[in-house]
Amino acid sequence: MTIQNPTGKVYLVGAGPGDPDLLTVRALKLIQSATVTLYDNLVSPAVVELIPASVQRIYVGKERGNHTLPQEEINHLLVRLAREGHQVLRLKGGDPFIFGRGGEEIETLAASGIAFEVVPGITAASGVAAYAGIPLTHRDHAQSCVFVTGHLKNHTMDLDWESLARPHQTVVVYMGLQGLGALCSNLIRHGLPAHTPAAIVQQGTRPQQHVVIGTLQNLPERALAAKLQAPTLIIVGGVVTLHQVLHWFNPRPPA
Ligand code: SAH
Repeated sequence: MTIQNPTGKVYLVGAGPGDPDLLTVRALKLIQSATVTLYDNLVSPAVVELIPASVQRIYVGKERGNHTLPQEEINHLLVRLAREGHQVLRLKGGDPFIFGRGGEEIETLAASGIAFEVVPGITAASGVAAYAGIPLTHRDHAQSCVFVTGHLKNHTMDLDWESLARPHQTVVVYMGLQGLGALCSNLIRHGLPAHTPAAIVQQGTRPQQHVVIGTLQNLPERALAAKLQAPTLIIVGGVVTLHQVLHWFNPRPPA
């Protein structure tokens, strides 16, 4: 039987969408006090820079189609490090419980009797919408807001299209760039007008933020022309029209 060091613990921490000023106070304290930190490609370089040089950093990858470490191995690595007595910081982009597999990671910890704590982060929908000047709800445009994953499985997007194609609702799509064309045509086919406003935001809250505005009809073509780089977030609904007057974050394009 493994004898557990009672002091080891895993902190599953949301790192927000990129701007380090959007970290929670708790996240910043843990970044400064952990003894080992695991992070993936969604954690912005500006946040990674805050990890003290003396702390061991483990990059666990996860670009689309390029998982440096399979999820299973990440889960077991967390267990092993905690058993060695580490204060393990598992940094995840946005909020760990929103499309982040955070649940899977702590399920393994719970099953192994490892102490853990979860620190919420600002999810991409909130952070990106704020910095793009697109309120997710607004009395004139949307009384509800749904978050969905546009991740393609076997080249298709298996979503409940009827529930998404409703009026007065904002739809936020994570991981949707590859399937943008299918997303827009399915929403039109299920009843949303082709002129419904839609936006795609590249690297929201970061110096590389780029907002492309269009409609369900023309967004795929505009996104292609803009040569967007991941991560990108799609926002569909009447609220997108507000960007024109409410945009305030205009980072200078990188040199
Ligand atoms: N747990 C994360 C989401 C992980 S899924 C969260 O709560 O935000 C990864 C997807 O999040 C990306 O494909 C993209 O759609 C979105 N995303 C994360 N950060 C983003 C950013 N800075 N700008 C645009 N999209 C972002």
